[in-house]
Amino acid sequence: MSVFRSYINGKWLDSQPVKTVPNINPANYNDVIGMVQLASREDVKKAVESAYVAFPAWKRTPAPVRGKIIANAARLMECRKEELAAAITREEGKTLAEARGELTRAINVVEFCAGESRRLTGETIPSELPSNFAYTLRMPHGVVAAITPWNFPIAIPAWKIAPALVAGNTVVFKPSTLTSMTGTLLTEIFNEAGLPPGVLNMIIGSGADAGDELLAHPAVKAVSFTGSTETGLKIYERVAARCVRVQAEMGGKNPVIVMPDCDLNLAVECTAQGAFGSTGQRCTATSRAIVIESIADEFVERIASRARSFRLGDPSNVDTEIGPSVDESQFNTVLKYIDIGREDGASLICGGRRATGNGLENGYFVEPTVFDKVTPDMRIAREEIFGPVLSVLRVKDFEEAIAVANDSDYGLSSSIFTNDANTIYRFIDEIETGITHINSPTTGGEAHIPFGGIKNTGLGPREQGSASLEFYTELKVVYVDYTGRKREGNLY
Ligand code: NAD
Repeated sequence: MSVFRSYINGKWLDSQPVKTVPNINPANYNDVIGMVQLASREDVKKAVESAYVAFPAWKRTPAPVRGKIIANAARLMECRKEELAAAITREEGKTLAEARGELTRAINVVEFCAGESRRLTGETIPSELPSNFAYTLRMPHGVVAAITPWNFPIAIPAWKIAPALVAGNTVVFKPSTLTSMTGTLLTEIFNEAGLPPGVLNMIIGSGADAGDELLAHPAVKAVSFTGSTETGLKIYERVAARCVRVQAEMGGKNPVIVMPDCDLNLAVECTAQGAFGSTGQRCTATSRAIVIESIADEFVERIASRARSFRLGDPSNVDTEIGPSVDESQFNTVLKYIDIGREDGASLICGGRRATGNGLENGYFVEPTVFDKVTPDMRIAREEIFGPVLSVLRVKDFEEAIAVANDSDYGLSSSIFTNDANTIYRFIDEIETGITHINSPTTGGEAHIPFGGIKNTGLGPREQGSASLEFYTELKVVYVDYTGRKREGNLY
């Protein structure tokens, strides 16, 4: 049986003391993938110290040389794509097609970051003094902590590790323990690509111990986090007194607005894909459909029929469209929210139960669920569920739709279905999300395009694209005076 360990200073190390938890396939909990050795606080200290020691030489390595190593990592990921996709599917539960899609995005991100190593430019700025030259340089922070969730176990780590390393930082990566196998494979690939020992370390461990120790270490200068809003805000608070830089991409409650003039087939299909694809376990998943009353009956009938049509099953089977929730705790959370929806008075149109039959009872499967007549004050309209559950909210017109869409603590993604140009541009102006889509699902993104949310979803600069380097670097401003004389003027 596989054992997943931490990777510190170029070596896989047994945790001290050894404490393990099983890594379980959520589609079949009789399939124990391996044992995860949880890093102790001492192990975490060693990982940070190794990153700290490796930093000066890595920082001095020319950025394009760092970029070549990152490009090697992209090539290795491409060569091992099927192995990585199978690992994601077995451990996280998304379908093979979804896992391959995640891999494509991750490889694209890593390739893009390799190219960025040749564009780590500053600015030259005209001075107001004669014979003076001013410019900016980008400087790495030092040791960066990359703390990631389980739902995109390759892509999210890739889009943190690659830009952090290209910028000249060293990294301590902490994946979710639920996805230790994919975290292990990714770490192996980056190191095989040619990173010197200590430049990328991985600790597998709980948030409360390993994560907390990582935040406590004075050598950690920046934290890039993706996960729930609750954890992100705790992390922000934990390191604020040390002025540690924090980037946090957190929860979502993403709305689609469905207008009467839209292509209803398109709206239904995109909403269904956004709500139920990846088992609703995407941060950008559609969880609220805000529908104008005049077409609401028809929308609800069609979306429920589409929800019932999805094939649930073993995600490694090519015919499967929806896999399980990632673990027992997430599965129970989803079922708990379905009960809350019923108790709060929403109309359950379809789903609403654990899915069984054909071996589904050995995994954490929930039927795709649609609630109608959800009101904005209900908990299923306000709180992130992170499962295959869609809430339909009926509204009278566009103004009410926008007000309801924006009546949320979250602000990650959104979408509108309409063919009216004026409505589209009013929506773009008024919707309060970091990403928005027109006539397409709330999900998806491209490697070279910034990604992230506003309100309680996002903190700090955006991830991905050139914008990602803003977080991983500090600007140094340089003034060069080549007059050879004492400065005259500009004495402020
Ligand atoms: P989580 O917040 O439970 O955990 C995320 C990571 O933080 C894990 O590695 C965990 O071990 C670690 N952690 C937990 N407590 C910690 C602590 N006190 N100190 C340091 N680290 C700690 O989230 P999750 O359940 O793994 O992931 C699901 C969440 O992630 C959802 O809310 C989803 O919306 C969000 N998410 C957001 C985005 C985005 O870009 N906005 C992308 C993917 C997922």
